[in-house]
Amino acid sequence: MKKRKKGSRDEITGISKEKEFDPGTWQPKTEIGMKVKAGEITDLDTILDSGKRIMEPQIVDMLLKGLQVDFLEIGQSKGKFGGGKRTIWRTTQKKTKEGNKPKFTAMAIVGNKDGYIGIGMGKAKETMPAKEKAIRQAKLNIIKIKRGCGSWACNCREPHSLPFAVRGKNGSSDITIMPAPKGTGLCAESECRKMLAIAGVKDVYSQTKGQTVTRVNLTLACYKALQHTAQMKVKHDYIAKAGIVAGRKAAQ
Ligand SMILES: [Zn+2]
Repeated sequence: MKKRKKGSRDEITGISKEKEFDPGTWQPKTEIGMKVKAGEITDLDTILDSGKRIMEPQIVDMLLKGLQVDFLEIGQSKGKFGGGKRTIWRTTQKKTKEGNKPKFTAMAIVGNKDGYIGIGMGKAKETMPAKEKAIRQAKLNIIKIKRGCGSWACNCREPHSLPFAVRGKNGSSDITIMPAPKGTGLCAESECRKMLAIAGVKDVYSQTKGQTVTRVNLTLACYKALQHTAQMKVKHDYIAKAGIVAGRKAAQ
């Protein structure tokens, strides 16, 4: 049996702050980008509410302060004793004349811990470019979610949880995220927990069905569920009753 070379694929993950963005170095290429740099658009919601696609990650850098980045553990290391340690890299091998060529896939999430989250995937022959691509993609996929307190056991009218239960499906993965009373914490699978945290949700219950070993599907299902908080139409009187906030908390 061929012994696998020990790689440095295991990395400490954890939320990290994005480095300070310098608008001076940015030359926008799209109309929205130009308006953002010129100061004509100062609120990310203006773009998100218009339904237009964000084509430049710098737009998010400029309009969303306190952006944080995290990586989801979508891979598994192979090694002695069955390996199995989770890593942020999913590797695939391509067989060529020169030998096996690995390709790395990373999945990044970005958010401001206050109502916004994006998820993105990056593939490359090396680890760093894969990470960068993933972050870039995550910024382009940023969405505004609705938070609130939809728990009948709580009723505090603060946006610490979700206003109602949402369900997301991707491939064979199926997740339902439900409101929970204050102090419950994030009762969800580890990668979904990271996503909820970076989006600014503090208390939920969740339930998964189907295949949950393929974590890429599960994380995308989780993203879709959160997306549904934004798409769901809410009756006017329920907005006050559940303390619903779309995006940032109003006070800020
Ligand atoms: Zn509550």
